[in-house]
Amino acid sequence: MEGKASLLDNMIGVGDMVLLEPLSEDSFLENLKKRFDHNEIYTYIGSVVISVNPYRSLPIYTPEKVEEYRNRNFYELSPHIYALADEAYRSLRDQDKDQCILITGESGAGKTEASKLVMSYVAAVCGKGQEVNKVKEQLLQSNPVLEAFGNAKTVRNDNSSRFGKYMDIEFDFKGDPLGGVISNYLLEKSRVVKQPRGERNFHVFYQLLSGASDETLKKLKLDRDVSKYNYLCLDSASVSGVDDAANFRTVRNAMQIVGFMEDEVQSVLQLVAAVLKLGNIEFKPEFVFLTLVVFTDLKEMCELLGIEQSVLERAFSYRTVEAKSEKVSTTLNVAQAYYARDALAKNLYSRLFSWMVTRINGSIKVGPFSVVMGVLDIYGFEIFEDNSFEQFIINYCNEKLQQIFIELTLREEQEEYIREGIEWTNIEYFNNAVICDLMENNQNGILAMLDEECLRPGTVTDETFLDKLNTICAEHQHFESRLSKNSKFLTDHSLPHNCFRIQHYAGKVLYRVEGFVDKNNDLLYRDLSQAMYKANHNLIKQLFPEGSPAKINLKRPPTAGFQFKASVGTLMRNLQTKNPNYIRCIKPNDKKASHIFTESLVCHQVRYLGLMENVRVRRAGYAFRQAYEACLERYKMLCKKTWPHWKGPLFFLEERRRQCLQDLAALIQKIYRGWKCRRQFLLMKKSQVVVA
Ligand code: ADP
Ligand code: MG
Repeated sequence: MEGKASLLDNMIGVGDMVLLEPLSEDSFLENLKKRFDHNEIYTYIGSVVISVNPYRSLPIYTPEKVEEYRNRNFYELSPHIYALADEAYRSLRDQDKDQCILITGESGAGKTEASKLVMSYVAAVCGKGQEVNKVKEQLLQSNPVLEAFGNAKTVRNDNSSRFGKYMDIEFDFKGDPLGGVISNYLLEKSRVVKQPRGERNFHVFYQLLSGASDETLKKLKLDRDVSKYNYLCLDSASVSGVDDAANFRTVRNAMQIVGFMEDEVQSVLQLVAAVLKLGNIEFKPEFVFLTLVVFTDLKEMCELLGIEQSVLERAFSYRTVEAKSEKVSTTLNVAQAYYARDALAKNLYSRLFSWMVTRINGSIKVGPFSVVMGVLDIYGFEIFEDNSFEQFIINYCNEKLQQIFIELTLREEQEEYIREGIEWTNIEYFNNAVICDLMENNQNGILAMLDEECLRPGTVTDETFLDKLNTICAEHQHFESRLSKNSKFLTDHSLPHNCFRIQHYAGKVLYRVEGFVDKNNDLLYRDLSQAMYKANHNLIKQLFPEGSPAKINLKRPPTAGFQFKASVGTLMRNLQTKNPNYIRCIKPNDKKASHIFTESLVCHQVRYLGLMENVRVRRAGYAFRQAYEACLERYKMLCKKTWPHWKGPLFFLEERRRQCLQDLAALIQKIYRGWKCRRQFLLMKKSQVVVA
């Protein structure tokens, strides 16, 4: 017991929570804190890496560190994200196994930084040569470009990713990178037109205004002064420690490296400028009609995009609806005109963003490739005071990721022991499948009900949607099955009248329904897409294909929720085919401050991430396991019986194989004696060898 206790007393705590004695939530937190206080931000749970955001740069990402971790066994050195990256890369290269790196944690916990560290580590250790270096550079430089357009300062994080990103890096059989493919998930486009207090619009707007030359700004008809633009929030125009001007140069340079032509860069910037101009267009009621004011902005926007001014003016004044083969135009009132303006700005920007992803893929995507490493950096779980459709979607995605984690590390693992005939006492864990179902069930899940409401003829409002939710949830067996004791959809009379609440795996979230129907519909008046399509500007024309006269009878596009659910489904299926590597990011405090470890906050994250259950399953189980064939392949030369004649006919006899393995096991055990394993025996089970 003394020996075990000393592990905890050790100055920097234990590197692997599996070794923690005694294991309790308190000792777990104490260990994390102790390590954090000593700048040891990484801790393992077996092969899972916990990372606690230090909120300051630590000297642990140097080229020397890369060399230190390169080709070393996972447990040989102190815990580091590089160890995980190395392990993933080597199994990809040496065992031809597709890998995925799953990074989770709440906003500001360090996911995006972790994903970049993994990418830069892999770039540093894989292949050399001019061609390969060019590929690496392109893959790495896609980050600043996408961050400029897809990240923003929020209350929680000065560089918060407002889109989800999954990147497959493709390798050849030697382990040299060939290229990659990026998938993006739902950009939070509402930010383009409105930001919560203390937050900013996407970085690129500020970068452009402060970093572009006078000449560029003149060409874009922009003023350097941020306060001139309605869409740019004034109270937090600059962020301390962020040099927007310098970042603009980085982004310009990165765009060039990832393959944007100069005229493409100009087009992109013109669109960014057009969004700012749009925000300044104002409308005023005049008698029955509305009038556009601030003409210069409208005029300049039209000049930038090559649109005839009268066309755009008309599109802002009327809405044309086609009923049977008849066209009916109605005049917009002022509120509708503002709505149309903002819808156009949001659509323009988010389509531009998706186009950029496609464009980057155009230069980095290759084939055929042999193996891939997928890196997932998706927005973290969000609980705000005011939660809307965006938070609903983001949290849905996090529920799905938690589900994968549960499936693979908790459920699968336990089932594997039972399959292998190893004695096992079941470990209880919270399975969030019921919440996923509540959100995504095709018949009566919340997304399905929202879609049904959006597609229903008649007057549809957020309130009718909420009524429907409440009625169905109250009626339905599906929700009721768990409602009695452990309700996930929570209605009670204390809720504000326009809200519903969900008990997520990470906590209760109150969603305000305002905007749900509209954001899910994601409709742009056809008059506007047609006006955009008429532009004498290649890029903008491409972004609004539905404005083409040839597509006049186009069916209604799928709703935002439907599309998101489908792409999350594809992503989950894709991840399940790969060998997962987990990085669980933890935010130590709410102040973005270094050296502060708020225990209650960390405790909450440890709980909902299921880390305690993770350690328990891991402790009860075996630290190392390998299938017989792979084990033989790897160690055959160690043993006379298996080398050099290991493929002889005798070898196929079951008994003989067991014997060989037994001998091998003894040898391997000798080799691994220095290993910091909890227990050190090799066991042979039905299909694999395990270190126990
Ligand atoms: P997330 O993507 O989870 O929302 P980020 O990765 O953007 O969070 O991290 C937020 C901020 O925290 C970063 O901008 C950086 O300042 C800091 N940070 C995160 N990880 C590290 C790290 N490993 N070392 C130093 N600072 C970090
Ligand atoms: Mg991020």
